Amino acid sequence: MCNDGRRVLPCPFCGGPAKVHKQFDGFRKVRGYYISCNKKGCPIFASTRVKSDKAAVIDEWNARISPSVSTLKYITELREEIKDLKAKLSKP
Ligand SMILES: [Zn+2]
Repeated sequence: MCNDGRRVLPCPFCGGPAKVHKQFDGFRKVRGYYISCNKKGCPIFASTRVKSDKAAVIDEWNARISPSVSTLKYITELREEIKDLKAKLSKP
């Protein structure tokens, strides 16, 4: 899906298509935009907050933590835990 030349990435949880929604005020004037997963049965029902700036909402939705970064962080945490356990076990 393209919006203002920006591509909206699929849902990070189920891979389903994401949709840009308009939120209206009481006078049918657009108050802001938000993006949510548009796939029925999405296990997370991911959604952004409403913002008046459509481009900012798209950037927010598209922001992802790289799997490699999160995996490296997890490995680092595990290494620290192993180090702590080894230190505890080596104490008399
Ligand atoms: Zn989804």
